[in-house]
Amino acid sequence: MYEVSPVKAQSCGSAGLAVQVLGSGGPELQDKRASTSYLIWDHGAVRVIVDAGSGSALRFGESGAQMSQVDVVLFSHFHIDHSGDFPALVFSSWFEDRKRPLPVYGPPGNDFMPSTTEFVRDLFGEPHGAWRYLSELVEPGATGSYTLEPHDVAAGSKPVLVLRNSDMVVYAVRVIHGGFPALAWRVEMGGKRIVFSGDTNGEGDGLTQLAMDADLFVAHNAVPEGATGVERRLHMPPSVIGMIAGNAHVKRLILSHRMLRTLGKEDETQAEIKRHFSGPVVFANDLDCFPLR
Ligand SMILES: [Zn+2]
Repeated sequence: MYEVSPVKAQSCGSAGLAVQVLGSGGPELQDKRASTSYLIWDHGAVRVIVDAGSGSALRFGESGAQMSQVDVVLFSHFHIDHSGDFPALVFSSWFEDRKRPLPVYGPPGNDFMPSTTEFVRDLFGEPHGAWRYLSELVEPGATGSYTLEPHDVAAGSKPVLVLRNSDMVVYAVRVIHGGFPALAWRVEMGGKRIVFSGDTNGEGDGLTQLAMDADLFVAHNAVPEGATGVERRLHMPPSVIGMIAGNAHVKRLILSHRMLRTLGKEDETQAEIKRHFSGPVVFANDLDCFPLR
């Protein structure tokens, strides 16, 4: 049985660089897990948020993180289980002392999905945003608020540099997630490489390139081996996760986005992955903390 550990919940990242899983589940509420969200901690401050799926805002609070510390938000795509709690994070930040802008990077849009800039405007922009009472967030030069700075990342099938500053270097690559625009992310901090697959069926070799020599590779265990049809068009089975992790020589593999169809199949998932990847494999639970030394 899964339980929240308050010790793990509040001590992640206090000593150095660490990745914390806020949400280890998928869209199904019956998995009793928050949906996808990850934090990168550095010496007690949370620096990066990757996705903000439903339920993860509660875990954000449980982790001890504060929105005023965050340097950047990265979205893999805009399915609800990856973005549904973003407004909750933003509204919570309203009660913190944040002055500096908050950059938000994510995919471009198509007929099925808004672009990242549209997503932020559809939430907070005048005159039609759902929560336009917070429109100060998206008005340049607004006083009394910080601003959200959304960017559409037109990444191709090869990793591209998205952001570089004195603390971190961030790359993205386009990944295939059915017909939904989606990105995988790599964050380099403190000499470590942290890679998030996001949701993808694993097609192409862009994710392998992005994940090359990663210290930590977070991949999504959304479908079991043998999945077909829509499930397989959207997600990668364990054999594909194993091949990518193996070909990219990642040092540690974390499996997240666990769904009812994969929960309980950990032994066979692990066995399938081990055929292609000999390194350590961990099944994530909410609030798990992975220090990077
Ligand atoms: Zn998902």
